[in-house]
Amino acid sequence: MTISNKLQQLVRQRAKYLCEYCHSPEFLSTSLLTIEHLLPQSLGGSDEIENLALACRRCNERRYNFIVGIDTETQEEIPLFNPRQQPWAEHFIWTTADGIKILGITPTGRATCNRLDFNDEFHNDGFIQKSRRFWVQGGWHPPSDDPRQKSGI
Ligand SMILES: [Zn+2]
Repeated sequence: MTISNKLQQLVRQRAKYLCEYCHSPEFLSTSLLTIEHLLPQSLGGSDEIENLALACRRCNERRYNFIVGIDTETQEEIPLFNPRQQPWAEHFIWTTADGIKILGITPTGRATCNRLDFNDEFHNDGFIQKSRRFWVQGGWHPPSDDPRQKSGI
């Protein structure tokens, strides 16, 4: 990776030390969050700060080189969420009181939730939901600015 330490630090600060996809906090991770390219380098993406995002290892690995996902409501292929161009709160909400699951509330939100498996529903037997439960109990999660579902699931 040719991204300078200074640039990496700027990306971390801009993201408020949260994964820009699943909003997992860096300080509860066992390693630093990763710097990822929104337009993958393999598709010509640059190292400019506008093409970079902070992502946890799960989201980074699952996003891989994908730039689209399937909207689970319409089965249409939709571009994945872009944290440089789209506010998180317009596309995702946390489940009501518990804050354990992320729900996509737009085609972009649903396609990204599905592709990155934000709630570990397809991988790892819901592991991330178990972690989030402890984070919520500790009062560290979800981020206070994030919208929550109004009525329960
Ligand atoms: Zn993540």
